[in-house]
Amino acid sequence: MDHKNDNETPSARNGSALSKIIHVDMDAFYAAIEQRDNPELKGRPVIVGGNPKGRGVVATCSYEARKFGIHSAMSSAQALRKCPHAIFIHPRKEVYAAVSIQIFSICQKFSSCIEPLSLDEAFLDVSEDILNLGSATRTAERLLEEIHKHTGLTASAGVSFNKFLAKVASEIHKPAGITVIRPEEAPAFLESLPVRKFFGVGKTTEKKMHKHGLFTGADIKAMGEEKLKALFGKAGKDFYTFAMGRDERPVMAQRIRKSMGREVTLESDIRDTDTMLAILKTLARDVEACLLRKKYAGHTLTLKVKYDNFCSITRSATFVRPLWRAEDIMENIPELLARTEAGKKAVRLLGLSISQFPETETEQTKGQMLLPFIFHKTTDCTPNKG
Ligand SMILES: [Mg+2]
Repeated sequence: MDHKNDNETPSARNGSALSKIIHVDMDAFYAAIEQRDNPELKGRPVIVGGNPKGRGVVATCSYEARKFGIHSAMSSAQALRKCPHAIFIHPRKEVYAAVSIQIFSICQKFSSCIEPLSLDEAFLDVSEDILNLGSATRTAERLLEEIHKHTGLTASAGVSFNKFLAKVASEIHKPAGITVIRPEEAPAFLESLPVRKFFGVGKTTEKKMHKHGLFTGADIKAMGEEKLKALFGKAGKDFYTFAMGRDERPVMAQRIRKSMGREVTLESDIRDTDTMLAILKTLARDVEACLLRKKYAGHTLTLKVKYDNFCSITRSATFVRPLWRAEDIMENIPELLARTEAGKKAVRLLGLSISQFPETETEQTKGQMLLPFIFHKTTDCTPNKG
């Protein structure tokens, strides 16, 4: 693994052509925009997020703030305790979205196959050298230069032959760094990689892995696919595949929107279900407006509830006819809510979303009879990472 190495990734291994993938990720995106737009904030611990006197959380913080142990998804109140002189800024989402559009239009010069992951992060398939720059590494360098020139912001990039490695690589020389992992370097890199860095491994899975003696990629490899599958189900197979340096997932250009929804963190925890229904009604109207604007209707309705212990659960129902109207959404919400422990337990967040959009939707099928036929249930007790 080299930092800014110009030697190119060989394009073939085992006779088959390997992809060249760049993962680009803006550095401390929201906070960097605030520092760019207000020079007084340069060099200071800046936290973009909710009010530290309320129930807000940190969305992004500057590198100066990170030195105090502050990170995304931490409560703003806790961040203030860690760094009392931090400067809190309310997010300016429209500004960030506008910069994001600028960044993606720069990305488009370098690749025709771009998969956005969020406002500030994307995969680019650069297997085809459309600008004749000679290598994926040079392409990444030019991309970061262009982004800096046009936005005044820095980004980091990972360059490798699959998505998993490119994403892990982009974190290594943050901020403003490029890391390249070539095919011949991948086995050693993966063997020494802590399990937590593997795609799909969160705190809970990490603990379980440690319990079974899995600390690095080498341990995952040594355990073998069958035993991993027995311990972790389908994910176990993925862990093994990634540890072997394989990741067949293609860069998906223009990802189809998977769901559309709204959620709200409540000012204070509530137990009264009528109040919950009133809040959900407002959310349903927002979702309806959003669906109408995009001309979408979806088959699955999902209710999300986060209890005061930060455990979040979802309850879904799938319908033969797609949903989009607020009144149709609300007609089904009491039943979904009754399948949660809301009321018995205090609730801190409510959300609802519509997913499973059909390929094409005609006006006639919208609003026809709605028949629930499948119910889904999920529980996630790890707090969201925001
Ligand atoms: Mg970022």
